[in-house]
Amino acid sequence: MTLMVVLLLLPLVTACVLWALFRDPKYTRIMILMLLANIATIYQIVQYKRVANLFRRYHGKICGNCLFPLEGLGDKGVCPECSHPYEIEKTIQGWKQDLSIRQTSNQTATQSS
Ligand SMILES: [Zn+2]
Repeated sequence: MTLMVVLLLLPLVTACVLWALFRDPKYTRIMILMLLANIATIYQIVQYKRVANLFRRYHGKICGNCLFPLEGLGDKGVCPECSHPYEIEKTIQGWKQDLSIRQTSNQTATQSS
């Protein structure tokens, strides 16, 4: 995570230094573009972490539409928060795909038998 932040900030810092050294308007534009790209990327990382934490806490039983915890509800139904229809198994599989969570070889062996 720290490495990712450093890699994200490096181009921005480079553009800032170039701008400070040469005071060229083209570096200002590059700096603004880098800043916007960094903000968008950091926002994506924060969102991913948030959903991954919810996934771990509720064992994948979170609404695919509004992230409402579906733990303790039936295997099939509608989300009490947003009325989005869900099936727990499909919801968990969908989150695993979205979060790129691979099943362990033990789980795969159990399911294939
Ligand atoms: Zn919902």
